[in-house]
Amino acid sequence: MTTSFLDDLNPEQREAAQALEGPLLILAGAGTGKTKTVTYRAANLLAHGVAAERILCVTFTNKAAGEMRERIRALAGGAARGMVVSTFHALGARVLREEAETLGYGRDFTIYDTSDQFALLRKVAREVRLGNETLALKAIQAGLSRAKPAGLLPAALADAADVDDVDETVVVAYRRYQEFLKSYNAVDFDDLLLLVLRLFREHPAALAKAQRRFQSVMIDEYQDTNAVQFEIARLLVASHGNLCAVGDDDQSIYAWRGAVRENILTFHRRFPGARVVTLVRNYRSPESILAVANAVIRPSPGRAPKELRSTLGPGEKVQLLVSDDDRDEARRVVDLIRMRRAADPRGRYGDHAVLFRSSRLMRLFEEKLRLEGIPYVLIGGQRFYDRREIKDLFAYLALLENPRDQVSALRVINLPPRGIGRGTVEKLVKHASRAGKTLTEVCADPGRVDGLGPKEAAAARGFAQVLQKYRAMSRERPIAETLAALVEEIDYRAELARDADSPADAERRANGVRELFESIAAFERERPAATLRDFLAASTLASDADEEKKTLQPTHVTLITMHSCKGLEFPHVYVAGCEEGILPHQRSLDEAEADESDVDVTVDEERRLFYVAITRAMRRCTISRCRARASRGGRVTPRLPSRFLGDVPPGLLADAGIEVNRPATAEEQRAALERMLGAMSRRSPGGGHKPPP
Ligand code: ATP
Ligand code: MG
Repeated sequence: MTTSFLDDLNPEQREAAQALEGPLLILAGAGTGKTKTVTYRAANLLAHGVAAERILCVTFTNKAAGEMRERIRALAGGAARGMVVSTFHALGARVLREEAETLGYGRDFTIYDTSDQFALLRKVAREVRLGNETLALKAIQAGLSRAKPAGLLPAALADAADVDDVDETVVVAYRRYQEFLKSYNAVDFDDLLLLVLRLFREHPAALAKAQRRFQSVMIDEYQDTNAVQFEIARLLVASHGNLCAVGDDDQSIYAWRGAVRENILTFHRRFPGARVVTLVRNYRSPESILAVANAVIRPSPGRAPKELRSTLGPGEKVQLLVSDDDRDEARRVVDLIRMRRAADPRGRYGDHAVLFRSSRLMRLFEEKLRLEGIPYVLIGGQRFYDRREIKDLFAYLALLENPRDQVSALRVINLPPRGIGRGTVEKLVKHASRAGKTLTEVCADPGRVDGLGPKEAAAARGFAQVLQKYRAMSRERPIAETLAALVEEIDYRAELARDADSPADAERRANGVRELFESIAAFERERPAATLRDFLAASTLASDADEEKKTLQPTHVTLITMHSCKGLEFPHVYVAGCEEGILPHQRSLDEAEADESDVDVTVDEERRLFYVAITRAMRRCTISRCRARASRGGRVTPRLPSRFLGDVPPGLLADAGIEVNRPATAEEQRAALERMLGAMSRRSPGGGHKPPP
């Protein structure tokens, strides 16, 4: 295999792609080709005879991993087969599937997502009850989301409790929570990492095996690794030191989920002798956009100083769009999108992305786009896997695979209603815990449960029989077939209709079920030999916090949260809602008030988020804000411009209002009239395309 592909890189990128041994840090600003460089480096390793199976590439989302895999394949072809390109969580799941028994779990463990975790925490909160259940739940959640990404096990949290302000009860709750998980043979997302760390620490043979397996490790988006991920990476490469970390401290935006920006800033100290490569040329955006990005990020404290320099020339000025209120904002941004697409003969809606601080702000844009008949995709909003109908069916599937999974059992034990009311469930659960059995075992044999009437016992048995029947079927038949038969047997579709808030809601949920079947079918086509367990593992990971089933489409406008837009690029970017209380987010302001010392930390992360948003733009960037906005209760309140706009010299911004408010041309008026008539003759307001979830 030749390495002529390296000619695509600039000299610094090539230097990094050719540094194949020892610790290497690529620390550089947005759009400088970091991700491109890692993919070339991976291909170069292959070209130098490193076996694909010995190479591990880790990145932040499954989507990014998929893209990286594609790009490496494009460079290296078949030689790339067997390379592991995944997220940290997927890597954790992979390692644990092999080693679960070493840690006392069964290999068929279930991965609990955020809402399963919440259900279990609620149970724990009821048990430990810190005065008030809601408060307890909040405190426990806060405690866990601090402890787990930091690598603190209950005992360590207890030690921390002595010095810190962690409540004793939270420690007790943490311990209980882990006990429940283990008895249900389940792990949460943090455990996928924490358990691997435990494995590596306590079982040297397992660590040695992993070290032999991966001789070269690369991590993109390294600025958002947490303490546990750092430690896993450190241990993985401890025997050979072949770690290549890639990232930009200015784009660290996940501290709220435990990311440690210092991981990238102190890399050279943690890995002595590390080679550090910086890239300065930005290939994504023109000077006009980078000037604004540089101005926004410059005041950020404690950063590795760097200025982005464009390779693309001056470009058009970043525009500022000021609207009267949020409705007006949606209208004007959508107008801009329509006009700009029409003005570009090769323009596609997929060239345009609107970026939001929170998915809550997307609704008016969705409405407007639908009204205009403009297709769009939503990324970072409510996730497919969080939808009720999907959770229900997944709970059934999870139970077929792992009968010990009590969270899933409780979700569907009386769904659809089969006469197992709350009281009955309590009796069954109590008996199960006393007898040391699983809930489903007790359902199969409810004769000895105290105070259970014959009707309830029969209902419980009925539930267990459904599970038994389809568990057997799932071993032999395709997943889609098993689920279809199960859905039929429990008459789930009727349940959806019965339970829906409105006919539209029923329709949406029925669509959800249909989409689920489509995705199972696609999965089985792609991996014909895969089992139900494989499917569950893949799906639960795909639903990890920042993932969405939806992908970008060239013909659709993208509505996306700023947290989800990492690593992506779009010709036209619109940053919506640049106001105090949104960006920076009110929560970061509240926290800043609560704790003086945290002021810069949290608000500064919001600044970096703004920087990430602006640097996605390849051709034009439009920053939008409103003078007033309807709050949650519907009350309209005046809004101040984001403080970050105050750091941008006014000369760098142009007024976008001029473009939106110019009189329409005769051509545009005709098109608008046609659209209106078209919309009136269609039955549904959305017209042509599928309604979003
Ligand atoms: P981010 O910080 O947003 O993750 P990045 O540093 O990873 O950005 P890439 O996504 O790798 O940057 O590259 C940004 C854009 O620049 C891509 O479109 C890429 O193809 C292009 N690019 C990178 N390096 C070069 C190069 N040497 N020549 C031409 N184009 C390049
Ligand atoms: Mg990148």
